[in-house]
Amino acid sequence: MQFISTRGGMNPAGFTEVLLDGLAPDGGLVVPEHLPTITADVLENWRTLSYAELAAKVIGLFATDIPADELSSMTARAYGPERFPAPVVPVELLEDGIGLVGLSEGPTMAFKDLAMQFLGQAVPHVLSLRGGVLNILGATSGDTGSAAEHAFRNSPGVAVFMLSPAGRMSAVQRAQMYSLTEPTIHNIAVRGVFDDCQNLVKELNADAAFKAQYHLGAVNSINFGRIAAQCVYYVWAWLRVTDVLTPEQRRAEHVSPRFSFSVPSGNFGNIYAGHLTREMGVPVRRLFLATNENNVLDEFFSTGVYRPRSSEYTYATSSPSMDISKASNLERFLWALLGPEEFKIRWAGLESSGEVDLSAHLERMHQHFGFVSGSSTHQDRLAAIAEVHAEHDRLIDPHTADGWTVARRLAEPDETVMVMETAKAAKFEATVAEALRSPIPSTPDIENLLALPQWVEEIANSANTLREIIQKQAL
Ligand SMILES: *Cc1c(COP(=O)(O)O)cnc(C)c1O
Repeated sequence: MQFISTRGGMNPAGFTEVLLDGLAPDGGLVVPEHLPTITADVLENWRTLSYAELAAKVIGLFATDIPADELSSMTARAYGPERFPAPVVPVELLEDGIGLVGLSEGPTMAFKDLAMQFLGQAVPHVLSLRGGVLNILGATSGDTGSAAEHAFRNSPGVAVFMLSPAGRMSAVQRAQMYSLTEPTIHNIAVRGVFDDCQNLVKELNADAAFKAQYHLGAVNSINFGRIAAQCVYYVWAWLRVTDVLTPEQRRAEHVSPRFSFSVPSGNFGNIYAGHLTREMGVPVRRLFLATNENNVLDEFFSTGVYRPRSSEYTYATSSPSMDISKASNLERFLWALLGPEEFKIRWAGLESSGEVDLSAHLERMHQHFGFVSGSSTHQDRLAAIAEVHAEHDRLIDPHTADGWTVARRLAEPDETVMVMETAKAAKFEATVAEALRSPIPSTPDIENLLALPQWVEEIANSANTLREIIQKQAL
């Protein structure tokens, strides 16, 4: 499997060659040159596999330059009992027509663990092939940073420098990051907001000499290794919801699928993996894209007009991991939708005017690619959390609540929508407590986590201070 750039300016390269970046040298994003196919027979052969075994098969479709036995030991470690309780991703139908796919059973209680734990194995493998070390520099508003630190805390040759906005994360998010004691994990709280953190990262990355000297790299949401690892749980969830069907019923799914996924979305990373899985042949009926009040993607999939917004028009909401108004992975879908030639012209138009009108392609986005979309408000989230608690005695988090709301609103009578549970309720306790009008009971795990000593270096919003820290502490 070879990867090329959406902008056409990169020689085809293998999975391990694109793993440490995701961004092509011409500024585009790497995409698979051709998509592999997953046939009905292959799916049936995979039905008895464990999550780790399935992960080796699905990721192996993309990572053809990693030997199969090495890939299997990587996924066995990434999805083993130390990091995820069996079955890794629980899949549960709560009532006729709607269910949950539990993506947040990992060490930091959000779906980003599933992809990041794989990178925690794959990145050291690539480094060992090439020789060298990697200093991951990133900015987080909460979930990505903790998932990255927990994935790389024991990875040889890798250090993590993670910027977070001082005083703006939840208590659990802070504790998950700041309680780590490994000398390769560096938590840096910036006196500023998330955008300030991101700008510091951009500023250092723009300094090519500094970046090369200190071996800086990223594991952000455009990383294709993360996308490949996210495809696994779409295949897994489809297998689990069809376990109870007869062979004839399973065959019928390939003609007229009943199962859809509803995906709380921000950077379009999670749902893009769903799109790839569907394109490869897994019979997914539709992909529900759910946003919060930051509804740029809902606007695109309902009108065909994509109009990214600047950070001053991005609201702080109660599903904060989706407070994004420029979805970095959307470029990959636009390339698939338009084809390389038209993509080039339309992308240039987007860059010069700040928006692009693809309403002529809307029908295809819906009919061929199966996308539908919706957005929700704070009140919708509270109502969804209260509903799931009252009817199913389950706590869902505010992001999952966005997915639930849109699933309820758009589901067709003969459709079953599986809502992606992207975080645990305990991680966003305040909003869940507001919805239930009572504090949610804490668990011993959470109490122990919150009681641990924390280490974080607080700095002013200054690139020079950050440079000094990296100069002193980089591998
Ligand atoms: C990151 C995140 C999202 C958004 O996922 P994308 O891949 O950026 O679309 C949704 N929910 C939670 C809890 C997250 O951490």
